[in-house]
Amino acid sequence: MALGEFELIAKYFSRPVARRDVLLGVGDDAALLEVPAGQVLVAATDTLVEGRHFLPGAPPESVGHQALAVNLSDLAAMGAAPAWALLSLSLPSSEPAWLEGFARGLHALAERTGVALVGGDTVRGPRVITMQVLGLVPAALALRRAGARPGDGVYVSGTLGDAAAGLELLRGAGGGASDADSPLVRRYQFAEPRLELGIALRAIAGAAMDVSDGLLGDLGKLCAASGVGALVQLERLPLSAALVARFDAATAERLALGGGDDYELVFTVPPSARRRLETALADGVSITRIGEIVSGNGVRCLRDGRPVDAEIAGYDHFAG
Ligand code: ADP
Ligand code: MG
Repeated sequence: MALGEFELIAKYFSRPVARRDVLLGVGDDAALLEVPAGQVLVAATDTLVEGRHFLPGAPPESVGHQALAVNLSDLAAMGAAPAWALLSLSLPSSEPAWLEGFARGLHALAERTGVALVGGDTVRGPRVITMQVLGLVPAALALRRAGARPGDGVYVSGTLGDAAAGLELLRGAGGGASDADSPLVRRYQFAEPRLELGIALRAIAGAAMDVSDGLLGDLGKLCAASGVGALVQLERLPLSAALVARFDAATAERLALGGGDDYELVFTVPPSARRRLETALADGVSITRIGEIVSGNGVRCLRDGRPVDAEIAGYDHFAG
C-alpha cells in the first residue's frame, strides 16, 4: 500500500468521538465501551464482498454508506439505539480516492445516527468490508421475530421494490447511462436504516425484522420464527411513484415482493396496540398495513380477496 496501514487508519478512520460512553476508541488494542445499567448490548455484523454485495466500480461513498446502513438496519429491526461500530477492511491497495469516498459515506451516516467508530482492522486482500455494530435496548423491549400472533396486523415501512429496481437499472445501464441519477438507484445505493421507527415500535410491535432479502422471503422467516402464517393483500403493497413510473405493474409487484436491499421494516401489531401505533408514528416514516397474521404457516398472497399463487406473484423468480 502506498499509504502505510497506520497512516491510513489515522487519516480515514480515526475521528474525534462525540460519545461519552467511549472510554477508549481507535488506537489501543481494543475499545472500552460503557453499557448503561438496565440496557443490553445488541450486536450485529454484515460483510460486503465486491462483485457480490456491491458492483465493481460502485461509487465508494455508497459502499461506505451501505456497509454501515445494512448493519444499522439490523439494529433498527431489534428496536435498538445504535452506539458503536467496528470496521474490518480488506483492500487490494491503499487507493486514496476510493478511501476518501468510502470514509465520507461511512462517517456521514455515522454522524447522523450518533454512531462512534471505535476500532477495526485493516488488511491487504480482495475488496471486502465487514462492519460490526453495537447498540443498546432495555432488555424487555427488544423486538424479535418470534412475537407474531394470529389476528395481528402486518405492516411495512416506506415503499418496497425500489432498491431492487435500482439494481436492475444499474445492471441494464452498463454503468453509466442517465438511469444512474434515478431515485431508484439512490434507494439501492443509499438505503436509509429505519432506526427511529424501530425505537418507536418498542412497546408496540409484537414481532419485527428488516426486509433485506425481499418481503415474501423475510416475512416467511418472521412467520416461521413465530409459528404462524400470514396473508398479504397485494393491492396494498406500498409502491413508490418512481417505481410505478419506470416499470410495468407486474414487474413493480414482483420487485416489491421478491427484491432485496430495501431495508424497510416489516412488523406485526396486535389489535390492542393499534391505537398506540397511530399516535407513536404521527410524523415519522410512512407505514402501510399490508395484511394479517393467521394460524398455520407460510405466507399467502391475496388479490382483491382471492388467493394468488406465489409463483404468479413472481416470487419464485427471486428464490435462490
Ligand atoms: P492490533 O494489531 O492490536 O489489532 P491494529 O494495528 O490492527 O491493532 O489497529 C490499531 C488500531 O486501529 C486499533 O485500535 C484498531 O481497532 C484500529 N483500526 C484498525 N483498522 C481500523 C479501521 N479500518 N477502522 C477503524 N479502526 C481501525
Ligand atoms: Mg489488528
